[in-house]
Amino acid sequence: MTVQPVTPRAKRILMVGAPGAGKGTQADAIAKQFGIAHIASGDILRRHIAEGTTIGRTVEDIVNKGELVPDAIIMDMLRKPVMSASDTGGYVLDGFPRTVEQAEAAYRTAGTLGVGVQIAVHLEVPEEELIRRLLARARGADDTEDVIRHRLKVYEEKTRPLLDYYAQRELLIQVNGARPVAEVTWSIVVQLQRAFKRPSATHATPQTRVA
Ligand code: AMP
Repeated sequence: MTVQPVTPRAKRILMVGAPGAGKGTQADAIAKQFGIAHIASGDILRRHIAEGTTIGRTVEDIVNKGELVPDAIIMDMLRKPVMSASDTGGYVLDGFPRTVEQAEAAYRTAGTLGVGVQIAVHLEVPEEELIRRLLARARGADDTEDVIRHRLKVYEEKTRPLLDYYAQRELLIQVNGARPVAEVTWSIVVQLQRAFKRPSATHATPQTRVA
């Protein structure tokens, strides 16, 4: 058994925000800016559903109702892409963790694998604006206003507590996501660049891995 250093400058970014806050759009822009992978749990799940895989058939109903998929499925599904992105510069994770339990589970796995999370970015958008955006996006799709409201409720109950979890670890960047897309991107990039320069950003997580 040998212990070797993980790519020391791997950037690990998490997007936290309600449905409609712009996580996917911003995660894409940040991934391009820093030359790292964009990993979206919702996109991977929708791909499984479209392809009718075992995972897809198991989660279809849950996703369509706006409920959360069981942690074990999500953790299994993300392990490989996250590990491989960690070895090649890092990632922007969009849609995970969704609960404090998932964050703690990810932290435990990170501890043993040497892949920790560095910085969470919170996109804050007022609820009326979220509903407006989600209704516009839903046109032609299956999403009803009821499902949209349910998704927002699940976010408030299960995901918002994550913000305290990260704030207590000094890993949280707050961004006003109600502004034009390019302005939001700019604000995130500037804050991330500043945060990556802090010594704690590179030493906050275990930097060794058992291979
Ligand atoms: P999203 O595209 O991130 O809004 O995700 C779409 C749907 O996929 C969510 O409403 C959940 O049903 C499911 N999902 C995505 N990520 C997770 C996660 N980390 N934990 C549980 N369910 C998830």
